Amino acid sequence: MDAAAGNTPPSHDEIVAMVRNLGETKFQHRAAKYDLEASFPFENYDDLRAHGLLGLCVPARFGGLGAGYRSYALISAEMGRWCGATALTFNMHACTALWTGPLADDLDMTAEQRAEHEARRAIHFKRMVGGAIYAQPFSEGGAAAAGKAPFGTLAKKVDGGWLMNGVKIFASLAGGADFYGVLGTEDKSDATRRDTVFLAVPADAAGLSVTGPWDPLGMRGTVSRTLVLKDVFVPDEAQLLPRGVYHQAATRWPHMFLTLSPTYMGIAQAAYDFTVKYLRGEVEGIKVKRRMYPTKQIAVAEMFVMLQQTWAIFRQVTGEARVDPSKEDRLRAYAAQYTIMENANTLTARAIRTCGGQAMLRPLPLERLYRDSRCGALMLPWTAELCLDRLGRETLYEPGETDD
Ligand SMILES: Cc1cc2nc3c(=O)[nH]c(=O)nc-3n(C[C@H](O)[C@H](O)[C@H](O)COP(=O)(O)OP(=O)(O)OC[C@H]3O[C@@H](n4cnc5c(N)ncnc54)[C@H](O)[C@@H]3O)c2cc1C
Repeated sequence: MDAAAGNTPPSHDEIVAMVRNLGETKFQHRAAKYDLEASFPFENYDDLRAHGLLGLCVPARFGGLGAGYRSYALISAEMGRWCGATALTFNMHACTALWTGPLADDLDMTAEQRAEHEARRAIHFKRMVGGAIYAQPFSEGGAAAAGKAPFGTLAKKVDGGWLMNGVKIFASLAGGADFYGVLGTEDKSDATRRDTVFLAVPADAAGLSVTGPWDPLGMRGTVSRTLVLKDVFVPDEAQLLPRGVYHQAATRWPHMFLTLSPTYMGIAQAAYDFTVKYLRGEVEGIKVKRRMYPTKQIAVAEMFVMLQQTWAIFRQVTGEARVDPSKEDRLRAYAAQYTIMENANTLTARAIRTCGGQAMLRPLPLERLYRDSRCGALMLPWTAELCLDRLGRETLYEPGETDD
């Protein structure tokens, strides 16, 4: 598993099998507790750590498993099938490695920036492979997370590092992460979105606090509380991407924002899996078969059709993710995000309607899947509404076109 130590890393299929085994034997049995308590899935992370999975997207030459974008998406969907909150929080961690690793390699940097980035990311990758968890708080409640304004969190360049001030809402892994990859704006006159900086703040940094309650509808195990940064100092090595490179990534590598959707692809699959099991009379405690009723057969057939339509666009767009994608590929990515997030919720609702009253009782997973799936379409920067908004504009207008 440790490529740096000379061992052969597991193949993609072996990693999927490993995650399926963890999910089936452990994660699915713990999910109800995390949901009820709105508590972080620490035990699941211990398992991920023990299996080397915290280094999943760390390039092999840095000792990780070297999963690229597409491989990650499929593995994440498998994780989401067993515990949505674990997969969604794991996304924040794994994508920090993806953005810092293979995505950054596709972007323009000066030779000096490239060398500096190489040295800095080695530090972060070493921590991840060693078992540290990275979160990705960027939401602030304003227009910044939607990509429409500079982040309100400010980072002032000082001797040897950065001084940070700001508030982040919905910081998944709050209290569970070892580092928070905070997006902020460089504190200087005339700063724009191009001046976004991406800095890893240690959980024990002086001036960093986790505040506020956490009692949401779904995805309760993500523990996405508020982070307050008050004169937090981080050293230069905290920089996860060189100055200006996050903005470049956001404009040139748009599929970087699609990576929340695999979790919900997994939830959609789980809703279908449960429905089949339930109608066959194979759910523990409810042994009555319902599969002989034509209405159930039609309902499950329609669910299967929708599930396969969702998988089809998911598989296509995750294979199209690259720097500077074509216009069609970019638009299809918005369409995919919209489809996956909306279909996951439709499928979980359909599963409850089809299986019936007993099926929505706790601790059976359906009602949790339904609540968890409702959160997908709300996630910035690609909420379902903003995907439609972008599609409406970008299908009809070329860049720079107006009607004047
Ligand atoms: C379970 C969960 C976990 C999360 N984890 C994280 C995390 O780890 N890190 C993180 O940074 N964030 C995280 N988020 C936050 C998430 O990405 C959103 O930022 C958050 O849900 C936005 O809430 P809001 O009400 O402030 O959004 P708002 O910005 O107020 O948006 C509200 C509505 O207005 C629409 N809207 C917003 N801007 C525009 C616009 N310019 N034009 C048109 N419509 C617009 C949106 O589509 C949305 O429907 C998480 C959210 C959830 C639910």
